[in-house]
Amino acid sequence: MHEPSKDGFFGNYGGMFVPDTLIPALNDLLTCYNTVKDDPEFIQELDYYLHHFVGRPSPLYRAKNLSEKCNHTIYLKREDLNHTGAHKINNTLGQILLAKKMGKSRIIAETGAGQHGVATATVCALMGMQCDIYMGAEDIERQSLNVKRMTLMGASIHSVNTGSKTLKDATTEAIRDWMQYVENTHYIIGSALGPHPYPLLVRNFQSIIGKEARRQILDQEQTLPDAVIACIGGGSNALGIFHHFIDDNSVRLIGVEAAGEGLDSNMHAASLSKGKPGVLHGSLNSVLQDENGQIQLAHSISAGLDYPGVGPELCYLKESGRLESYAISNKDALHGCKELAELEGIIAALETSHALALLADKKILGENKMIILCLSGRGDKDMETISQYV
Ligand SMILES: *Cc1c(COP(=O)(O)O)cnc(C)c1O
Repeated sequence: MHEPSKDGFFGNYGGMFVPDTLIPALNDLLTCYNTVKDDPEFIQELDYYLHHFVGRPSPLYRAKNLSEKCNHTIYLKREDLNHTGAHKINNTLGQILLAKKMGKSRIIAETGAGQHGVATATVCALMGMQCDIYMGAEDIERQSLNVKRMTLMGASIHSVNTGSKTLKDATTEAIRDWMQYVENTHYIIGSALGPHPYPLLVRNFQSIIGKEARRQILDQEQTLPDAVIACIGGGSNALGIFHHFIDDNSVRLIGVEAAGEGLDSNMHAASLSKGKPGVLHGSLNSVLQDENGQIQLAHSISAGLDYPGVGPELCYLKESGRLESYAISNKDALHGCKELAELEGIIAALETSHALALLADKKILGENKMIILCLSGRGDKDMETISQYV
């Protein structure tokens, strides 16, 4: 159940749309994963680092003041308290242990805002691996603090000057590097995206979020929640918290995309609401594109949601009716961020703030519900943007 088909499809979405030279590497990756995923030694090593290095389990915190304000019982799954400040480290840690098992000595990754780059540089320092990060020239300028972090931890940053000089172009360059050095190099993809088996791997490494949250809510409330809410960029924190609730049909799964300046403005990143099936970065997904099938530039105030596609499993869950998705504007996200800060003393990432903003919508959520919201990351990285607007 919930596993992709043999060729990596979730329903109509997914697959391996890559040059032939990469197919053996993807097959090796899946074979290695299938061998180690039930291996007690691998599980024990991953658990050790998740606990002692990342700080898991993350708390499931009952946000009393926010609950009162929204007239719901709201629990926050505190992924912001992980080492490096977001959920991304759950995946980079799992993948680097897998790379070690495969005998790779070098790691590459793409990054947009730098959050995935920092999580990758962190685990490379931890494991003593060479680390090369591809980043758009535009993003290097905008995210200089994260560039300094990665450099301090020993990573080399490669500036990408093609196309729009952002994440989409950095991803293309990372794939090119991987094709050339696949022998000794593992490519750590940062969301539940890309060719099979990445969407499966990333989801499984992130599913620790929902596994803990399900146990924690049963401990604290002796019942399952009415709804689980998460923001959606590529889909990794959402699938991570949803996975262990998918079979609980009474639990609504709600994803929140970035409506940017509005869904009719062409300045948004709402790939589930407004995308059409297309191939982007190795798999078939819902993609923002023009009438000629050219990829459209995405826009969101939060860099982590600013991507013109969304991973295959979420596309499938949406199409099958299990996942509901909504879109929240830049302005409402900023308001959601401010409200949580004032009410609870927690500064959330702007990505997460999109999910927070949905809590005000009684038409969608009703009243007096028990809700778990994935607090995917902390907002320190966004302070400059936040203070410009608030
Ligand atoms: C990267 C990021 C996201 C978006 O990525 P997903 O793969 O959709 O989870 C959301 N929140 C934070 C804090 C992020 O850093």
